[in-house]
Amino acid sequence: MQEIAIRMTRRNHNAFVHLLGALESQGFDIGELLITKDFSEILKARSKVVLYSFFTEEIWDIEKEVKILKEKTNALLIAGGYHTTAMPKHTLNKLGFDIATIGEGEEVIFHLLKTLTENNFRITKELLGIKGLAFYLNGHFTFTGFARVDDFTKFPPFAETSRLIAPIEISRGCPFGCYYCQTPYVKGFRMRHRPIDQIVKYSKRMKDMRYITPNAFAYGSPGGILNLNKLEALLKALQPIRKEGRRLFYGTFPSEVRPEFIKPETLELLLKYADNRRLAIGAQSGDDEMFKAMHRMHTTENVRQAVEYMLEYDIEPVVDFIVGLPNETKESQRKSIEFMKWIIKKGGKVRAHYFMPLPGTPWARCKPSPLSEEMKKFLGRMAAKGYIEGSWGVQIELSKKLQRLIEEFYEESPSYVGDLRKIC
Ligand code: SF4
Repeated sequence: MQEIAIRMTRRNHNAFVHLLGALESQGFDIGELLITKDFSEILKARSKVVLYSFFTEEIWDIEKEVKILKEKTNALLIAGGYHTTAMPKHTLNKLGFDIATIGEGEEVIFHLLKTLTENNFRITKELLGIKGLAFYLNGHFTFTGFARVDDFTKFPPFAETSRLIAPIEISRGCPFGCYYCQTPYVKGFRMRHRPIDQIVKYSKRMKDMRYITPNAFAYGSPGGILNLNKLEALLKALQPIRKEGRRLFYGTFPSEVRPEFIKPETLELLLKYADNRRLAIGAQSGDDEMFKAMHRMHTTENVRQAVEYMLEYDIEPVVDFIVGLPNETKESQRKSIEFMKWIIKKGGKVRAHYFMPLPGTPWARCKPSPLSEEMKKFLGRMAAKGYIEGSWGVQIELSKKLQRLIEEFYEESPSYVGDLRKIC
């Protein structure tokens, strides 16, 4: 029997692939783990521990699985991911997990599994020495502190002995702190980068080369500025393996680029060294007042300029917008509509999302603004013509569920930076 099971899903695949690499590099035998995307296999296996990792948007499905596991097995259930870091009490008390991990997971997961294995898979006082855990010990809620990993690059992106691979996380952390985003509060405000030789080494195992980073053109910099030399050095170093037949996708799924990093110099690098001819950038609004309100730290002019540059270089702009932002007026929405129209007319693509208040962000308790009739009609018309992508319709319902969750179970979130600024 495999004593420890990992409940993989499409959404947590990348996270677990990296954690497997981290576990193995610290001496854990990952060959002993049951790793499956099939829930019935987990039920059948009757493992002593089951590991989950999920986002807040997934908690309603996760809750159902936990209920079944609690009824049919005696497994100790461990949760990690953005939701557990933001709402550890909710994770334990409402979702039904036995242990929540909080912060960056590479070290905490290794020490946790090792300690549990040594203690017959029971929650004991030995867990108190592991940073990054929340659990109940003798009926008392216990939080051992936020787990930080100063150097995430000491862990490989994937395990040597596993065939599972995923896009490589090349940079971690983000200095911008947009009020709707969980990233800086879980990964820190300081951007850290995986060294080029490691990226090259592990890219050789990929068919298409894809990377995870909050801002692909900020590679090698503290995050807020461009380091063109370092960026070019990385792209250049990947060329020999690109020539072996792998395609290099940079600044597009599953990563993106901030608009003010789109410049002739960066686009020239992309044309020279990468295979994608589209780039994803975050705009989020067409109103400068909203940029200030959400702490985006760029302007509509930055976005306009980025789109112009991309078109000049024959690169398709894919521009993200969030509609229904807190305190967004009809006038703000009108400005976003005008801006989206301009992008579409120029030949770009728009991806529209509805505002979702995420726990662990400064906007967690902010309410979305209703969409104006004009906005609803515009989005519907443009989507029907194929000019706008995105799932804002589904997200309206999800956003309501998130608001109810936060109203009912609000808790102060542990965060990388200590106290989280609260705006609403
Ligand atoms: S939305 Fe992007 S730029 Fe803003 S804080 Fe999150 S990762 Fe950073």
